[in-house]
Amino acid sequence: MPTSSRSSAAKPFVVKASPVHGKGLFATRKIPAGSRVIEYRGERIDWDEAQRRAGERGGPVNHTFFFSLHDGRVIDGGRRGNDARFINHACEPNCEAFEHEDGRVYIYALRPIERGEELNYNYALIYEGRHTPAIKRAFACRCGTPGCTGTYLAPNGRRKGKQ
Ligand SMILES: [Zn+2]
Repeated sequence: MPTSSRSSAAKPFVVKASPVHGKGLFATRKIPAGSRVIEYRGERIDWDEAQRRAGERGGPVNHTFFFSLHDGRVIDGGRRGNDARFINHACEPNCEAFEHEDGRVYIYALRPIERGEELNYNYALIYEGRHTPAIKRAFACRCGTPGCTGTYLAPNGRRKGKQ
């Protein structure tokens, strides 16, 4: 039987088509700054296995289901993952991903989020190879936030966030 206390404990978002890219997460109620929104779940694999799976899935674009951890492994949101894998990138995001000491990753609201807003965080995506025009096109960003840099890619040398 649904009760108000139960509905307030339910997840504060829905997954639906995003104007930015593919599917996205949209707030179904106000989310206060600092709230934990969702854990980034998925199978934990090493980088070699991640490369192999990316090849299977058609190349580097699909790296965006991978979240890289400080110990060098990645979480593959494409296997045993949850809705967190649908969160889109934004250059000036309203959420951030934080890896805790135990290696678990949660998405937190960076600021108060209004009902209906799409949730996003900065992937700080790493691409070790040259940032050729083709690669830049493959990772083009259309987030529309004021600080948009036009790409998901972090400058080479950073090692944090999604890969
Ligand atoms: Zn952008």
